Amino acid sequence: MKVVAIANQKGGVGKTTTALNLSAALALRGQRVLLIDLDPQANCTSGLGIEPPEDSSMYSVLIGEKTVHDQILETGRENLWLVPSEMDLAGVEIELARSDDHLTRLRRILQALKPNDLFDYCILDTPPSLGVLMTSALAAADEIVIPLQCEWFGLEGLAKIVHVIDQIRSSDANPDIRLEGIIMTMYDGRTLLSRQVVEEVAKFFPEQMYKAVVPRTIRIGEAPSHGKTIFEHDPTGIGAQAYGAVGDEFLIRRAAVGPLLAKH
Ligand code: ADP
Ligand code: MG
Repeated sequence: MKVVAIANQKGGVGKTTTALNLSAALALRGQRVLLIDLDPQANCTSGLGIEPPEDSSMYSVLIGEKTVHDQILETGRENLWLVPSEMDLAGVEIELARSDDHLTRLRRILQALKPNDLFDYCILDTPPSLGVLMTSALAAADEIVIPLQCEWFGLEGLAKIVHVIDQIRSSDANPDIRLEGIIMTMYDGRTLLSRQVVEEVAKFFPEQMYKAVVPRTIRIGEAPSHGKTIFEHDPTGIGAQAYGAVGDEFLIRRAAVGPLLAKH
C-alpha cells in the first residue's frame, strides 16, 4: 500500500475534487483505494454522498481510542472505501499539538495498515492550512501529489509547499517523502494565463507535472452537490475524461518507476 497525500496549503485549488476523482478513477481501474478525509470540513465525505455516523472520523484514531479499521466505511462503490471526516476532527489539532509524537502519529497508524495488504493506495485529502493535520499527512505520505490551480497565485503557493516538503524530508519525520506529481486544475484554455501557468510549471517541474490537465467545467464543480464522482455525474464529459486520464497517468508513472526501483 502506498500512502499518497493530496496537498496544497491553499484552499479552493482542487484538492478535494482531485482526491475524490483520482480515488474513483483508480478504483474503476481495479485498484483497491482507501480514501481518508483529513479535512474537518468533510468535503470528501459529503462529495461521495456519505452521511457518516457520529464519531467515525480519524479523530478517535489519532487520540488512540479506536483503530483505523473501526472507521473504514463502504462507499457503495467497488474498490473504494472511506474514513470520513467531521467537524470534531478540528479538535485533534489541539490534542495532537500537546503530544511529543504529533508529527509521526498518523504515520505510525498508516504504516500499521501496510502489512495487511487490504489496499493498493491510501489517498489522504488534507485541509488548507499548514496545521498539525496537514503536516501529519505529509509526514505519513510516501508520495505527495499537489493539485495546482492554473492561476498566478497558484505558483506562489507551489513554492511554499515545495519548501515545506523539503523541511519534512530533512527532518526525521519522513526522510523518503517524494513530490510525485503536480496536477494542473481548473484549466481554462481560452485564457493566456492558464496556458502560461502550465508552461511555467512544466519548465520548473518537467518530471512532476502531469500531462493530463483538468479543465474548469461546471460538471466537475456540481458533482459533489449530488454526492457523486465525476464518473457517476457525467461519465462521458470532459471532466470524466480528464480525471480518467489523470488516473491512467498515475498508474503508468508507477509502472515506469517500479522496474527501475526493483533493479536497486
Ligand atoms: P480544495 O479542496 O483545494 O479546497 P476543491 O476541490 O474543494 O478545493 O475545489 C474548490 C471549488 O472548486 C469547489 O467548489 C469545487 O467543486 C470547484 N472545482 C474544483 N475543480 C474544478 C474544476 N476542474 N472545474 C470546476 N470547478 C471545480
Ligand atoms: Mg478540500
